Formats: sequence, C-alpha cells, structure tokens
Amino acid sequence: DPLLPANAPIGRTNDGAFSPYSGCKLFAQMPLSGRTKDGLSDSEYTKMTHIQRASLPHSLCGRDILGAAKTGSGKTLAFVIPVLEKLYKERWGKEDGVGSIIITPTRELAGQIFEVLNAVGKHHDFSSGLLIGGRKDVGTEKEHVNDLNILVCTPGRLLQHMDETPNFDCSQLQVLVLDEADRILDVGFKQALNAIISQLPKHRQTLLFSATQTKSVQDLARLSLKDPEYISVHEKS
Ligand code: ADP
Ligand code: MG
Repeated sequence: DPLLPANAPIGRTNDGAFSPYSGCKLFAQMPLSGRTKDGLSDSEYTKMTHIQRASLPHSLCGRDILGAAKTGSGKTLAFVIPVLEKLYKERWGKEDGVGSIIITPTRELAGQIFEVLNAVGKHHDFSSGLLIGGRKDVGTEKEHVNDLNILVCTPGRLLQHMDETPNFDCSQLQVLVLDEADRILDVGFKQALNAIISQLPKHRQTLLFSATQTKSVQDLARLSLKDPEYISVHEKS
C-alpha cells in the first residue's frame, strides 16, 4: 500500500516532515503543559513508547495523524495527550462545550480510554463523559452532554445523541480521534460513522490510530484528513 510506508524512521514521516522534538525520548522533554506533565508523572509515565515518540511531535503541532502500531504499544496516550494540550492551548472551558470526541469500537475500550484520560488529565479542568450504550440511562446523559468538553464514545451511542439529544452541539469540535480506526471504518460501523462524520465540522484536527494500517483512500477521503502524517511503527516499543 503506497499510503503507508512501513517503518518510517522515528520523527520523520514519508513526506520528510521533521520536528525539533523528533529525537526526544522522555515526556519531560516534550513541549507539554505543566498540568499534563504532572498527570503523566503521577501515573508514572516517564519514557515515551515508540508510537508516542513518533507521533507526538506532529500531533502536538496540530497535524492530522494516521498512526499504526500493534496492540499494547501505547496508542492511548498518543491521542489523549494531544487532545488535552489542544484544549488547554485554546483555553477551553465549560461554556465552550464539546471540544473533542474520541470514538472507539467497544464499551470496554471506551472505559479504558476514559480512565487514562482522567488519570493523565486530572490536573486540567476539563469535563469528560463516557457515552456508551447499555449501561447508563440515555435521558440523564442528554441533560449533561452539552456541558462535556471531551466525549469518549462508541459509534452507536454518539449517533444516538446526535439524533435524539436536543441542542447536541459539536460545531466547535477541535480534535476528533478514531481509536481502532480499522475496526471503526469497517462495514459494521460504516453507516453510523458516515452519519457521525457528516455532522462534524470539517475544520478540525483528526487523529486516527489502529493496530493495522488503514487501507482505503476512500475511507481517508470521507474523514476529510488534511495532509496527514503517516506513522507506522513495527518495532517493539
Ligand atoms: P494500545 O492502545 O496501543 O493497545 P495502550 O495505550 O492500551 O496500548 O497501552 C498499553 C499499556 O502500556 C498500558 O498498560 C499503558 O498503561 C502502558 N503504557 C502506555 N504508554 C506508556 C509509557 N509511555 N510508559 C509506560 N507504560 C506505558
Ligand atoms: Mg488501544
């Protein structure tokens, strides 16, 4: 697949983009807010994994990312950190509503991401919500969803809010994350995802992560990625 060259060297992507932070190995060396740095060290995250080292220099300056690295390689922090940093730089607050949406295929994964987000983001003031099917009463969620800054959701539940929640507003969305993107872009979620994407503003940062390389040009087109950085990591992190 010409879209995703294997083993792009750390920090340098297929189109040769380079960042002054490309050689960094520690979170402490990265241009992160003190709040995020404190959250990371509270959780005892010190050294970046390979996918974090390769993607953060680009995602932190607002670029779209198409990242592939195997399960267990630390993809969650590779998107949670840029989400926190973007909203912090924008001085996002309660009145600003939904600033970031993180979509993942299963409730279980959503729960895990939510935990990491709240641990690493604990020194920030953002509100976050877990929008997943089944567990909670959707009625109560509807009353609060517009007060949430960061949504972690499964596609079905997010679409339910888009369809049913009065005044559900994501017109100010800054960062969209698709976790396990290959699974979300697959046929099973195709309709839901198309419906979701069509209701999101196009001017945003999009971070796409998966265990395998995302294949079709069509998929990427419907996500309106802007000149994304293709980052593919195969080595052990
Ligand atoms: P993936 O989404 O790629 O499958 P996860 O984000 O779930 O991987 O991370 C896998 C494990 O690695 C988790 O237990 C996580 O806490 C841990 N981890 C992630 N990044 C780091 C890091 N920089 N330092 C130490 N452990 C990390
Ligand atoms: Mg993951």
